[in-house]
Amino acid sequence: MVAEEDLESEKKEIIRRYRRLLRKAKPILKDGDAKIIKKAFNTSMEAHSGMRRRSGEPYIFHPLEVAEICISEIGLGTTSIVAALLHDVVEDTDYEIEDIERLFGKRVAVIIDGLTKISGVFDQGSSQQAENFRKMLLTLSDDVRVILIKLADRLHNMRTLESMPRHKQLKIANETIYLYAPLAHRLGLYAFKSELEDLYLKYSEPEVFEDIAGKINETKDSRNKFIRNFIRPIKDKLNALNIEYEIKGRPKSIHSIWNKMKKQSVPFEEVYDLFAIRIILNVSFKDEKAFCWQVYSLVTDYYQPNPDRLRDWISIPKANGYESLHTTVMSDTGKWVEVQVRTTRMDEIAEKGYAAHWKYKDGKTTDETGLEMWIAKVREILEQNNANAIEFVDDFRSNLYSDEVFVFTPKGDLKTLPQGATALDFAFDIHTEIGEHCLGAKVNQKLVPLNFELKNGDQVEILTSNKQKPNESWLQYVVSSKAKSKIKDALKEERKVFIDEGREIVKRKLKQLKIEYKQTVLEEIANYFNVKSPVDMLYLVGTGKIDHSLIKSFVKNKKTVVEKPSVRGAKDVEEKLSRVRKTDSDLLLLGEDLDIIDYKFAKCCNPIPGDDVFGFVTVSDGIKIHRTTCPNAAELLANYGYRIIKAKWASSRKHSFEATLSIIGTDRMGLVSDVSNIISEELKVNMRSLSINTEGGIFEGLIRLYVEDTSHIDTLTKKLEKVNGVVKVSRSN
Ligand code: MN
Repeated sequence: MVAEEDLESEKKEIIRRYRRLLRKAKPILKDGDAKIIKKAFNTSMEAHSGMRRRSGEPYIFHPLEVAEICISEIGLGTTSIVAALLHDVVEDTDYEIEDIERLFGKRVAVIIDGLTKISGVFDQGSSQQAENFRKMLLTLSDDVRVILIKLADRLHNMRTLESMPRHKQLKIANETIYLYAPLAHRLGLYAFKSELEDLYLKYSEPEVFEDIAGKINETKDSRNKFIRNFIRPIKDKLNALNIEYEIKGRPKSIHSIWNKMKKQSVPFEEVYDLFAIRIILNVSFKDEKAFCWQVYSLVTDYYQPNPDRLRDWISIPKANGYESLHTTVMSDTGKWVEVQVRTTRMDEIAEKGYAAHWKYKDGKTTDETGLEMWIAKVREILEQNNANAIEFVDDFRSNLYSDEVFVFTPKGDLKTLPQGATALDFAFDIHTEIGEHCLGAKVNQKLVPLNFELKNGDQVEILTSNKQKPNESWLQYVVSSKAKSKIKDALKEERKVFIDEGREIVKRKLKQLKIEYKQTVLEEIANYFNVKSPVDMLYLVGTGKIDHSLIKSFVKNKKTVVEKPSVRGAKDVEEKLSRVRKTDSDLLLLGEDLDIIDYKFAKCCNPIPGDDVFGFVTVSDGIKIHRTTCPNAAELLANYGYRIIKAKWASSRKHSFEATLSIIGTDRMGLVSDVSNIISEELKVNMRSLSINTEGGIFEGLIRLYVEDTSHIDTLTKKLEKVNGVVKVSRSN
């Protein structure tokens, strides 16, 4: 129970936060707006009254914060504030969409509907999360604000993830890295994207996060000093331009620094581009380009630029609307540093993306910009795609992060395609018909095959033939999600014809043999021919790849149907666990529960005691235990919530586990024996194999050994790193 006086002070806090929201919204409010926001606030208050967040705070804090993020971090307007305040009302309280429409009108109701999760039952093999992603992406064609508010909602949930139980933290964090961060990136919301990625790291690898965050903080002074020294020689010339400007040193996000450390396997200290110098000019719209290039020329007159690293996103902005001029120059300290030149307008678009873009667009440019073209394209894909939801989300996100290539039609129209796009992608981008009948292409007047990879500036003419049609191998030729889904559709259409044919043949055959045509029989036949599913079997019969006369021999060898494994989802496992233990605990205890439930350790990440882990119910191979840092974890956790089992290591140390250590150092006589002595004698560890490669005085080794848990590895690593000549020891999969 909350005491009386606490309730009083809580009420005051709610009012205080509501006023803060109004204050921030003030500059954009028009007549009557304040009234409608107040109505939304009161409705939300009433609907959520008595509800609390996991942290114990009143629930209304959440919609209030989400609304505030919408205004101050994305720059959205009144309709979005109203929708943000009401975003959880339909999902979590007795209100229906109809009530919202009656009270706040059609527009708000459409947005809220898009923000409400689907409930209900889904096919096997599908996933509720993926269906929800898909539904959310589909609403892009109704109103982009749905996605923006959803991102604000997600950001606030990530900021308050602390109070959630561990398995929920992992699920939410993985969904975030799997879909929401890429989405923010694609919409040009850089600040959002970096914060979402950093928060993901904070919960998925807390120690790494703390370590890097601490080091960024420690190096702040030397960074500022570096920037002061960098600017000194060009300051006078900058001032002589007579414009307002600002210079910032932007450290890269923790997540992107971590990625660099992993990719180049270097420590924090050796990541060379920890930050970029940003010069922001406050000039009028028509002078932007001229001043940006003047500043570029000032900088590169003094500092030597790297010609490979010049990026002009002012003449051709990125498809998400990003504009800026980037160059990398050699500083006086002998270090490369990236310099970004842009205007205040460009900077705001870069941080706030979509919404800021609209703010500036009013009356200033008439071109259809990259962003609008992108939204039109996404819309098109969404409306035509009928693949299953997981496949769909996967195709969609694979296009989110990729860079772009710019090419021209024969008439000189500019087309933007994902990096790696081929002539065939281009054909599908022009029109589905042209894609399906594409024979080849002429690129810059030269004849090229379908899978020719396009480069910036290529001019492409597509050659077609009525006889041409898509085949399986085309899927290897394309990278754009549009072309992929179109080819899949066409192949499905063709496959359907063969399946129908196969079905007729099998029916006829079974009739002759006096066997009833039914699903279980089809499954037996599929098993007999070693085919994945009855449908695949029908297809193979239809194409003649399975000789239908062989069905007779199936009947002769007919045995009883093999029973399917009984485990279908996490629920079954959890029920079984609590039934056997006769308690409520549904946690899988690794090392103790093996007699109740069969599980195996995943080969992709080789978990050992001490690792953060979860169980995953696979379709045909029982339960697999993965590390939460496994490369496959994000996909599994984000898409298959119903198959995830909470798992923990039992404290007893009975087993040993295989792990691999990679070891790097400078070669010297006797080093190998020193290393293996430490392993086998001092630490009494059982070594399985040791392979060493030496080249040019450097040695690299992989040691496979049996250990008890992670602390065992830590001790071993520390000991090995003390060996004279050893530079680095780390765990590898
Ligand atoms: Mn919410």
